[in-house]
Amino acid sequence: MPDQSQPSASPLASGSIAERLAVVRGRIAAAAVAAGRDPGDVRLLVATKTQTPDAVLDALAEGVDLIGENRVQELVAKAPAVADRVTQGELQVHMIGHLQRNKINQVLATATCLETLDSLDLARAISDRCLRDGRTGDRALEVMVQVNVTGEESKSGLAPDDAAALATAVAALPGLRLTGFMTIGARLDGSGEEAVRAGFARLRAIRDEVRASGAPGTASATELSMGMTGDLELAIAEGATIVRVGTAVFGPRPTPV
Ligand SMILES: *Cc1c(COP(=O)(O)O)cnc(C)c1O
Repeated sequence: MPDQSQPSASPLASGSIAERLAVVRGRIAAAAVAAGRDPGDVRLLVATKTQTPDAVLDALAEGVDLIGENRVQELVAKAPAVADRVTQGELQVHMIGHLQRNKINQVLATATCLETLDSLDLARAISDRCLRDGRTGDRALEVMVQVNVTGEESKSGLAPDDAAALATAVAALPGLRLTGFMTIGARLDGSGEEAVRAGFARLRAIRDEVRASGAPGTASATELSMGMTGDLELAIAEGATIVRVGTAVFGPRPTPV
């Protein structure tokens, strides 16, 4: 565990991360209150893609307890910096990018949740691996089903009409624990607020339908991971329990990912 009394390697970045985090937390709390919700019911996931391990540690020093990585390569590269905190239960690491089957092992070794499950084939492969490793019950891998609520070809996730069936099948697999649903909203500038909100509402309706089914393993599917820097207020208004924020915490990324 890093000694927090040591001056940070990058004091400027550290200060600005602290200030930006305060702004983001303020936005989350205000949006929750405006929606008549308890601010404590919305968790901040800090999206750490393209950030250095030091930048991630700066965020953790400010009380961040949930981070998300898009690429397995980055997940693995940052794992040593955060592994102790994960083991101690102080930090959760979510995989929020598409996962290829040949990288399942790396994700199982370093992530606490896979938010981007979008096929039964992948789900079965991960569950089988978990079973082989003795990971069932409390040690099963947390997963969310990623839904493409906008129907844009460029976005991953499965069609809304197929989401409930996949979630129900996933919930029954012994190596996985279904914790909820994830989506990337429509582009706010291209679609307008109403369309963005409608997409988030769709994800909530899918979650509610799956839970109401009473099918085995679906009671734990409470989470709605939706909302990013540009649209987190809209997502919270529609019930987000996790918002995934990168730019508003770290500043603009050098290259788009
Ligand atoms: C990058 C990313 C985010 C955060 O996006 P920002 O606009 O930088 O807040 C959230 N979710 C996913 C899946 C991402 O790839």
